[in-house]
Amino acid sequence: MQVLREIRALRAALRAAEASTRGLGFVPTMGALHAGHLSLVERARRENALVAASIFVNPLQFGAGEDFAAYPRTEAEDLALLEAAGCDVVLVGTPDDLYPDGFATEVRIDAPFTRELEGAARPGHFDGVATVVTKLFGIFAPRRAYFGLKDLQQVALVQRLVRDLDLDVEIVPCEIVRDHDGLALSSRNRYLDAELRTKAARLPRALQSARAALAAAPHDRQELERHVRALLEPDFVVEYVDVRVLPDFVRAPEPLREGRLVVTARLGPVRLLDNLALECSSEDGA
Ligand code: AMP
Repeated sequence: MQVLREIRALRAALRAAEASTRGLGFVPTMGALHAGHLSLVERARRENALVAASIFVNPLQFGAGEDFAAYPRTEAEDLALLEAAGCDVVLVGTPDDLYPDGFATEVRIDAPFTRELEGAARPGHFDGVATVVTKLFGIFAPRRAYFGLKDLQQVALVQRLVRDLDLDVEIVPCEIVRDHDGLALSSRNRYLDAELRTKAARLPRALQSARAALAAAPHDRQELERHVRALLEPDFVVEYVDVRVLPDFVRAPEPLREGRLVVTARLGPVRLLDNLALECSSEDGA
């Protein structure tokens, strides 16, 4: 695996491999890799001639008071994991290289959903994501790019970006990888101490329970939210509960039957995001 630390060197490596637009599968990450990230790399490996990844903790997508400085950085382990998963080339990005002096462009997607849920909770976050993803697509020129459904709203954002700007890349949404007790893997789970980590498994269980309740009887949003809050409070601070439908992350019609059940709840120092396809929804969450 080649490890490059400058955009220029990365581009030269890709050109040398003659994979500029054909057969390159790309997995953008912020590092602190776990089996969820690796599932994207493994899928990219199966579907592409060449597999590239990026490790870049993107300052633009962190708000004031968020954990940019503290975000886990585990580069040596990440590189070993990427190599073992079959990654051919990785860019370990730096803010100076991606955002040099004079950088003045922002990509902002003005779809209604970018102001809702995560967009409302984290002002500016999606602008930072859209900007860096646009840059990374420009840098790598991938044929396919792999994103986890763990960040469902981000998948909708990237799909909108690609459609609106006619970017020549196929977005491949990938199912959520979970720990042994059902908790969705996340780089931020390492902020949970042992006691909170045990409690955290109640979140995926609450999603399962709510999904079963929706399948058994008609529910509107209020009833769904009551169901989820009853299972999680007071240990969790529930931020939002909803059912949304891709590609544009619109609110599912009531009674809630199709789409993905989305819950975000704070547990101690961590915001836990999770979602689950309802029984009659298709696998890709549409
Ligand atoms: P991040 O490093 O958090 O920016 O995540 C990089 C990519 O990995 C994003 O597309 C995430 O949605 C995806 N990802 C993170 N956690 C998981 C998971 N548990 N299962 C599948 N994909 C994931």
